[in-house]
Amino acid sequence: MLSIRTYQTEVLIIGSGGAGLRCALELHDKKRDVLVVGKCEKRDAHTILATGGINAALGTMDPQDSWQLHAADTIRDGGLINNPKAVMTLCKAAPRAILELVTWGANFHREKNGNITQRFFGAATYRRACFIGDHTGREILNVLVDQVEQRKIPFLSQVYIFSLLHSSQGVYGAVGWDIRKGTFVVIQAKAVVLATGGHSRMFSRSSSRFWENTGDGIGLAYRCGAQFMDMEMFQFHPTGMVYPENAAGVLVTEAVRGEGGILLNTHGERFMRRYDPARMELSARDVVARAIYTEVQAGRGTQHGGVWLDITHKPKDYILQRLPKVYAQFQHFLGIDISKKPMEVGPTAHYSMGGLWTNYTTGQTSVKHLYAIGEVTSGMHGANRLGGNSLAEIMVFGRLTGEALARKVKRQRWRSLNKKTVDTLISTFSQQFKNKRGNDPLKVKQDLMQMMWEHVGVVRNGKQIAAGLQLLEQFKKTSLFVHGPLPMNAKLLAALDLQHMLPTCEMILKSALYRTESRGAHYRSDHPTILSSWRKNVYCTPTRQGLRLFTKPVAKIPNTIQRLILEKQPTTHLLE
Ligand SMILES: Cc1cc2nc3c(=O)[nH]c(=O)nc-3n(C[C@H](O)[C@H](O)[C@H](O)COP(=O)(O)OP(=O)(O)OC[C@H]3O[C@@H](n4cnc5c(N)ncnc54)[C@H](O)[C@@H]3O)c2cc1C
Repeated sequence: MLSIRTYQTEVLIIGSGGAGLRCALELHDKKRDVLVVGKCEKRDAHTILATGGINAALGTMDPQDSWQLHAADTIRDGGLINNPKAVMTLCKAAPRAILELVTWGANFHREKNGNITQRFFGAATYRRACFIGDHTGREILNVLVDQVEQRKIPFLSQVYIFSLLHSSQGVYGAVGWDIRKGTFVVIQAKAVVLATGGHSRMFSRSSSRFWENTGDGIGLAYRCGAQFMDMEMFQFHPTGMVYPENAAGVLVTEAVRGEGGILLNTHGERFMRRYDPARMELSARDVVARAIYTEVQAGRGTQHGGVWLDITHKPKDYILQRLPKVYAQFQHFLGIDISKKPMEVGPTAHYSMGGLWTNYTTGQTSVKHLYAIGEVTSGMHGANRLGGNSLAEIMVFGRLTGEALARKVKRQRWRSLNKKTVDTLISTFSQQFKNKRGNDPLKVKQDLMQMMWEHVGVVRNGKQIAAGLQLLEQFKKTSLFVHGPLPMNAKLLAALDLQHMLPTCEMILKSALYRTESRGAHYRSDHPTILSSWRKNVYCTPTRQGLRLFTKPVAKIPNTIQRLILEKQPTTHLLE
């Protein structure tokens, strides 16, 4: 006997990270009915991994800073293909987001005079990242959850949404699986907001955790025929752990290089001299990532496919004071004292710049009644994300989408739940348990991520990508054997993840093949230069005949911002 719980809410928010919670608060305060669902625990969304800071041109340290300069830095670093309107909205509204967080109790680091401290992030003209120790994301999420609890906003944790309810009239709810109880959840809604985070787990080396950033929002929207943009744009952070296997990809903050850490290959050579002699280890993220990749490919890498990051020339006390988290990380995983031994590091998949297309002003996707906010969307960061901008984005667009939706859903009527559709979804889901043969979904997931890492990773080329697409066809045909006890079945969750990952991988591969130039994080060794003719966005839409890819030019950048982009050169500072 299947157990099904049903809910009705005006707005369903899928995702309880920063973006989802900020949106929920706005909807609640505008007197709308809202339900938040997350597949992890309440205070454990991916947002908590953010350490370094949140950008806002407050000018507390550098009064010359302005929202216009923030916008210019963002678009310049984004390879000039960001959505200019979205960037300007973000940069204007980011100071208000900081104020909101302060009002709600966020304890930002302050100067002796009481001003919020701001620090440099890579490619920022002035100091504009506000931070709370090295746990900015965790503090922001806690503050937002506290507010959600104070308002008693309904919240379902550990519920995995595996399908949206969708008809020709648009989206009207979702169906999920309660991971703890092993029961189904059916939610009817006037509108659905996807705040499901990014898709860095398409790659075997990733700074995310294994069970999140699996592209769920992308997969859910794909099956409703939504439009996506710039899926080829994926940021690889230069320094993640490469060893041991269970820690591979875990971020090693850029602060290590900011504090004087140097990169060495196995010959002991400080190889950044050959790639960027002026900025050395503090070069742009994509440049350092490609340099490390090239050293490893040329056989000058370490045993585990990385290079050495050495900070042993600094006193232990200094390291403990400045880099306590990295120190603890290497102690924990390897029992290594980084003041005595160098760290083995290599690039790791870090941030999804591409994703769902939205109009940004209201978060509306191309599908009726379906909205999206946060890392699941595209357009804000163009070809490269500026560190610190993502936390600002989730706060600003969480609020703006909440505001716009509150006005919309008030006038909107309910659509009735189609029982036949729900039954079909639940019985298709249950079929997975009936398969008596097939492959272990956990292993298939791992193999898929490895394929992506090898075929469309830090450096790509047409032949490799095309071969990756052929391999993807095999993955699509693989039958899965979901066995083991219920609930809390890791194999079942991996099988669900694969449903989202396969279309996400296909769009990344096809878009990467389509863009025949190199720009920002997208580097094609067979098309290594940036071409002005490619200053456009790549769109992807699922159709009955398969994926349709096309381009559209980027909107005009206003003259005031354009002038600043050309005038101001990014300075090299401590990077986080
Ligand atoms: C190591 C690291 C450090 C970072 N540091 C910074 C930094 O210093 N500054 C900065 O600006 N950015 C930083 N970022 C990026 C930033 O953390 C993220 O981009 C941002 O937190 C994304 O927030 P979000 O709300 O969009 O998604 P998330 O926080 O990823 O939340 C997604 C939510 O969706 C839920 N979900 C997903 N799929 C489903 C499903 N099928 N059913 C139900 N629920 C689902 C998840 O459970 C989760 O609650 C960092 C990222 C990493 C990995």
